[in-house]
Amino acid sequence: MSHAVIIKKAVKKYGNFTALNGVDLEIRPGEFFTLLGPSGCGKTTLLRMIAGFNSVDGGEICFDDKVINNLEAHKRDIGMVFQNYAIFPHLTVAENVAYGLKAKKCPKDQIPGKVEEALELVQIGQLKDRKPNELSGGQQQRVALARAFVIEPGVLLMDEPLSNLDAKLRAQMRVELAKLHKELKTTVIYVTHDQTEAMTLGTKIIVMKDGVVQQVDTPQNLYQKPGNLFVAGFMGSPQMNFLDVEIKEKGSDVVAVLGKDELVIPAAKAKTLKDGGYVGKTVVMGIRPEDVADTPNGSMSSTVKVYELLGAEVFLYFDVNGTQITARVDPGTKAKTGDPVKFDFDMEKTHFFDKDSELVITN
Ligand code: ATP
Repeated sequence: MSHAVIIKKAVKKYGNFTALNGVDLEIRPGEFFTLLGPSGCGKTTLLRMIAGFNSVDGGEICFDDKVINNLEAHKRDIGMVFQNYAIFPHLTVAENVAYGLKAKKCPKDQIPGKVEEALELVQIGQLKDRKPNELSGGQQQRVALARAFVIEPGVLLMDEPLSNLDAKLRAQMRVELAKLHKELKTTVIYVTHDQTEAMTLGTKIIVMKDGVVQQVDTPQNLYQKPGNLFVAGFMGSPQMNFLDVEIKEKGSDVVAVLGKDELVIPAAKAKTLKDGGYVGKTVVMGIRPEDVADTPNGSMSSTVKVYELLGAEVFLYFDVNGTQITARVDPGTKAKTGDPVKFDFDMEKTHFFDKDSELVITN
């Protein structure tokens, strides 16, 4: 049975260094939850605490309503998949998968059937008699996966399981994992620093920085409604453009002043900025590359510094009031490096952030 995982004010210290600083988290049974953040933010530390490999220096970790802070790892109802597969080299594929079942004292006569079923699910039934050194990286990772879920754990923990695979295989395995989760309905906690993986696999994502939770949300909300500058900059590639603008009232409009340009802010965002006391102040305006359009009738102008063709889309890089921005445009664009370019921002899609607190004012 899948467990809920509830984490309350979790703290982890390595000597004087605080790796996790009061993490709160609620993961529902059956959820595919991804831990996302840059290198060193504390993802693996948190996963290892859930697994029971790291001590808990403050707060609580619960499976359903049971505190498990001091429960030994092997007594927790978990399966684990690591980046480096960690399968036994001297055992065959089938023996590797059977290993956990034997350890769990599964009745002997049930083991072959369960092993076969698990190997079929990850599509390597035909390789059951091979040793790990006779398998590709992707096949080894499938063995590791089968070994983890064959014991039917209440929580499946995965630490960057796809990062040793090449880009094509990674994309393929991503789809397989999503299918597998749909089938198994186990609670999955998945560590990655790859936002594509987090966005496509996770029903919920936690974004962390320096051991502190930045936002816990659906992939869509993290992208469309980032809670602060860090999340806005971390989610999306190429990243969101950030420009310092002054907020001004002009007649009945509220405008963002950007050098000589005055951009009219849509009513709802304008009201939030006005009510928040931001008129007369400088704030950070964020706009995603796909919301910058190069058009002959554009109200702003610049010169293309770099033109990049990536098959189905083109990235244009140019300066706006001294800041380089990226526009993601149609490959039919006429603009090339060195050309003048006219463009517009889709002001409905802008985000505004407080310059000091870095928190979002309006999305
Ligand atoms: P990555 O994506 O690079 O794997 P991460 O987000 O998983 O990073 P952690 O491995 O959890 O990060 O590490 C969090 C912080 O704790 C880092 O600054 C790391 O240097 C530190 N750290 C991790 N393990 C130890 C340890 N055993 N002793 C001291 N510091 C540690």
